[in-house]
This record gives sequence, C-alpha cells and structure tokens, in this order.
Amino acid sequence: MSTSETLMEWHDEYGANNYSPLPVVIAKGEGSWVEDTDGYRYLDMLAAYSALNQGHRHPAIIEALHQQADRITLTSRAFHNDQIGPFYKKLSEITGMEKILPMNTGAEAVETALKAARRWGYRVKDIPENKAEIIVCTENFHGRTLAPVSLSSNREYQADFGPLLPGITIVPYGDIQALRNAITPNTAAFLFEPIQGEAGIRIPPDGYVRDVRALCDERNVLMIADEIQCGLGRTGRMFACDHEDVTPDMFILGKALGGGVMPISAVAANTNILGLFEPGSHGSTFGGNPLACAVGRAALDVIVNENLPVQAEKLGRSFLERCQTINHPAIKDVRGKGLFIGIELHEQARPYCEQLMKAGLLCKETHENVLRLAPPLTISEEDLDWAFDQIESVFS
Ligand code: PLP
Repeated sequence: MSTSETLMEWHDEYGANNYSPLPVVIAKGEGSWVEDTDGYRYLDMLAAYSALNQGHRHPAIIEALHQQADRITLTSRAFHNDQIGPFYKKLSEITGMEKILPMNTGAEAVETALKAARRWGYRVKDIPENKAEIIVCTENFHGRTLAPVSLSSNREYQADFGPLLPGITIVPYGDIQALRNAITPNTAAFLFEPIQGEAGIRIPPDGYVRDVRALCDERNVLMIADEIQCGLGRTGRMFACDHEDVTPDMFILGKALGGGVMPISAVAANTNILGLFEPGSHGSTFGGNPLACAVGRAALDVIVNENLPVQAEKLGRSFLERCQTINHPAIKDVRGKGLFIGIELHEQARPYCEQLMKAGLLCKETHENVLRLAPPLTISEEDLDWAFDQIESVFS
C-alpha cells in the first residue's frame, strides 16, 4: 500500500466520519500550490474555505509566528499580554469599530455575537426577559456548534442534535419585505452573510444590504454581518458590506484573520454593544493569546499591504467573465464577486471536482451541485489562466 493509501486508511479507521475529503493527502504548501505525499502538485482553488486568502505559509505571517513562538505563546486572559493591544488596535482601525472581542473559531465568534445581541436586546432595547428573537436567512451557514446549527434552515445539519436554541426566525435570503414582516418588538438582531458562501456563492439583489441597514435602523434591530468567509478581501472589497457602502452594527470575522496559520476569530462592534460584557460574562482560554494576536496582526498587514481586496477585484472580474463563456449543458449558472465564484450545475458537482483533482486543481463542491472557486487572493494571473484551462477542458 502506498503512503497516501495508508494515511487515508488511518483517517477512516480512527477518525469520526464527519467529512468526505477528496482522495488526496496534502503534505506541503506554498503560495497557491500544495503538494501531496507522492510529490504531485495541485493548484489550491479552495484556499481552506477562504481561510488562506494570503496563500499558504505567507513568509511575513510565518515570520511573525516564529518570532512570537520564540517569546511567549499563551498567557490566558488572567494576565495582560503585549500582543493583544496592537492586534485590537489594528482590527479596530480596519473595521472602523471601537471594540474587538477575540475568539478562535468562526462558530465561537457567531456564539459571541448572539450573546452580545441578546444582551443588547435586554439591556438597551428593553426586550422582556428571555424573549429576545434573532432573525436569520434561509440557506445560511454560521458554523457547526449548537447555536449556529439552531440557526440553520438545513434540517440535515440539525437531525438528532436537538433540542435546539429557541427564539430564531428564518426569512428568505435577499427578501427585504420578508425581513420587514418578521421583525417584532422582541427582535434583537438580524444576522446574515452579505454573500452566502456555503449556500453556493449566493449574491443578494443589488441594494439588499443597504435596505437591511435602513430597516434595522428604522426598527431598532442590530445588523450583524457574518463576514467570516466573504470578508477580508475575498469579494474585491475589504468587507462584502463595502460593496454597498454599509457598516453593520457587528462584524463577525474568522478564517483569513488567522492567515491560514492559526484559528483566530473576532467580533468587532462599538462600545454600545461590546461594552455590555463585563468580566465573567464571556471568555475563552485561547482567545486573544499572544501567538494568535501576533499572527492575526501579520495576517491583516498582508491583506492591507498587498492590496488583496484590489487584487481579488481585478483578477476575479476577468476570471469570472471567462468562466461565464464556458458553454456546457451541465452548467446552470456562473456567478461571483471578486475571487468568490460559484459554478452551479444541473447535476452533482463532485465528479467534476474529482476530474479537476486529477488535472492538478483542487476545489470542492458545496451544496452538492455548486463548484466553489475561491483561490488565495495572492494567486498569479498565470496560475489563474492555467486554472481556467483545466476547468474549460473538464467542461468540454
Ligand atoms: N460563518 C460562515 C459564513 C462560515 O463560512 C463559516 C465556516 O465555513 C463559519 C461561520 C464557521 O466557522 P468555523 O468553521 O471556523 O467555526
């Protein structure tokens, strides 16, 4: 048996069966490329679900990791550390929000935003005790822990995990009238993805994000943008909300905040919301650890210094246009913003992913019938040209 076969066998024998990875065992990565245990190279067109916007092992981020690892990695929040302040300051400047609350994974940051929204509902909006409601969208994806799963409209994500969190209303994504009708005096927040990722790169109608902002202002409801996947440059702007010049009340960030090196997430909001937490009301042993803060700061510096949102806009526009020229009966729709592109098929996308893998291009289906193309934002034009050739030949 080859090394990769043994490794996949151990994965299946000893691991819980909660993923179905493509049969490739990756051992190395650099920039937009990875290498498997047999030395074959692949162009990474998934970028770890947008956690690798800066590419694999970006030298500046790895340098920050090494430097910090040689000094101190963990203090817990029982003490100050010298990295958390500079990280807060940088993220506050980038988001325009007064305060930051750091966590580790995206799901934890979503949990944090929900707690913040409920607190705000009770303490600021005067919602009666235990009556706070949160409105979310159909096809949303906010993570896999119990609160995000409770928000889902996908019954498969919830099967036999109940009882789920109460106080959730689901409205059709992109439908402002439905949102208007769903708001009650007890609504604390509307939580949504400005572009839905896991749902298959679903883009709401033009003006939706602006209309959400206006409606939330009118009805005194918090607008929470989950930009864990679509934020930090992916769609051609720093935040997807920027396409409509909108600032939400809370940003939820993760994935690329850790530069593909560490799990780092955060909620960013103003003091009227995050100021409602007092010591003892929320926390995380690893959240805000010095290693994560040093890496997170470097990850943000790369996004800003290398103009990654502009890169995504420029490269994404022509790549999308080219993908839209592919004429094949299996293709239903090709859509995207920046380097966040979905090819929706009339059939299962998995066999196409497998063919692309054999051609040296890695991507993954989402929602069974959508090919998601979301490479590192540092990808070169030549590599994107090569990717297009592979995609075109799979659909020929
Ligand atoms: N929110 C969005 C929009 C996501 O895309 C994801 C992950 O794909 C999450 C939340 C959950 O993040 P994590 O997997 O880090 O918990």
